[in-house]
Amino acid sequence: SEYADISLKDIDQVSKSSFPLCMRHLFEKLREDHHLKHGGRMQLGLFLKGVGLKLDDALAFWRAEFSKKVGSERFDKEYAYGIRHNYGKEGKRTDYTPYACQKIISSAPGVGDHHGCPYRHFSEDNLRAALGRMGLSSRGMEDVMDKVRNKHYQLACTLTFEAVYGTSCDVGINHPNQYFEESQKILKS
Ligand code: SF4
Repeated sequence: SEYADISLKDIDQVSKSSFPLCMRHLFEKLREDHHLKHGGRMQLGLFLKGVGLKLDDALAFWRAEFSKKVGSERFDKEYAYGIRHNYGKEGKRTDYTPYACQKIISSAPGVGDHHGCPYRHFSEDNLRAALGRMGLSSRGMEDVMDKVRNKHYQLACTLTFEAVYGTSCDVGINHPNQYFEESQKILKS
């Protein structure tokens, strides 16, 4: 990518400054629970690959968290394969691409899942709280909630982007990795 690849020592800071809400949520839950179910591992794992996290760093990152929950032996046995698989190093060796908003919005997270699009899948209370943590004013929040009520989830995300970075985003948000890149452009300019 044209941006410096993300490194492990920066990942927490970058998650707060540049990840869209769907990925911030998965990242925080992983740090908190030291675990994510399959849908979350796929959605966050492929996103992180898309922002330039190298396979070795990805394995170290997931291993550090999962080890706290299931132990490193079980991680190596049951979970490392899936990460290498996402990077095209196992199975059919397909180089899997990160999910676009449309796919994430139309997913159906169940109980205990943290993947999906918060604008589509969070309760109103949870969404308002999350937007508050991103620093939205009450005016900004009402504009976002208005788009949510009309089921314009990507527009809600675009308005959040504009509020967070204080600039317009005329192209609109259609992919979590695009959100990341647009935000890096602004933060690094
Ligand atoms: Fe993520 Fe896209 Fe939803 Fe924004 S609109 S939170 S980038 S899935």
